[in-house]
Amino acid sequence: MATILSGTELAQKIRNEMKEELAELKKKHNLVPSLAVILVGDDPGSISYVKGKEKACAEVGIDARKYKFDADYPEGDLHKLISDLNNDPEVNGILVQLPLPSHINEEKILYAIDPEKDVDGFHPINVGRLMIGAPGYVPGTPHGIQQMLVRNGIDIAGKHVVIVGRSNIVGKPLALLLIQKKKDANATVTICHTGTKNMGDITRLADILVVAAGRPHTVNADMVRTGAVVIDVGVNRIEDATKKSGYRLIGDVDFEEVSARASAISPVPGGVGPMTITMLLHNVITAAKRQAGID
Ligand code: NAP
Repeated sequence: MATILSGTELAQKIRNEMKEELAELKKKHNLVPSLAVILVGDDPGSISYVKGKEKACAEVGIDARKYKFDADYPEGDLHKLISDLNNDPEVNGILVQLPLPSHINEEKILYAIDPEKDVDGFHPINVGRLMIGAPGYVPGTPHGIQQMLVRNGIDIAGKHVVIVGRSNIVGKPLALLLIQKKKDANATVTICHTGTKNMGDITRLADILVVAAGRPHTVNADMVRTGAVVIDVGVNRIEDATKKSGYRLIGDVDFEEVSARASAISPVPGGVGPMTITMLLHNVITAAKRQAGID
């Protein structure tokens, strides 16, 4: 049976390290990092994600300031708010919870955030920095996956990493991160997507297989090489009458059968999710230190 790569446990360990670092920053520099979280509308998923982020900030000692608006909040007002937050020295990071209501141009909003406060790492300047290997802000999910591998002693260098999914928030930045000629990277990376033919022939070549398709049963045991490491990023709600909520969460990978073949596998829930939020916290702390000129 595969080793279970628990994101919950690892995230807790990293957050404990952050707590110590933040206590030190406060003592030495009187610095408390702050994050502005903007939520527009009543999407239940977004409300719950924002709650999770606020809770995580409070846990480590980051000051999270929530800006919550009704679904009809005007786009112009949102631009004005972002401009004010960009210019507010008390705010180190700005996060706009996606998706935004359809009358708001998401791209324009994300591009309006000062790249130095773009702790989600979605601004083209930070995407470009990742592309050329310059310091910037790496999106939480790819960074969390890299940390999950490294901190579990799984060597990335020289490995063949196959990623299923090419989104701008998971697949593409993860590929850019892991091909860097740097420590904790230097992998050979292949990306699969819906245009890929005979995907199993490619996924079976993976030493490390990362699945971020957003569809249950995308990867079964036949598609995995014996001994491979499997990271399941997908989060899918399926009906489950035995649960009070009426649903449960599953990943993109057929967990039972794949865990009998893989050497290590991340679960859903409790895998990549907690790591994503933790790396967001990492970016807020980094932003605060950079803005205060602390190395
Ligand atoms: P996305 O933007 O919908 O992208 C999905 C990607 O998967 C696309 O590139 C798509 O290919 C590819 N794909 C879909 N079905 C496929 C199939 N059957 N075979 C091959 N490729 C397939 O999704 P995302 O934002 O990257 O998120 C992916 C999943 O991860 C979702 O379940 C999401 O909820 C989850 N997620 C979890 C976290 C976390 O922290 N745990 C964070 C982010 C995302 P095309 O480009 O050809 O359409």
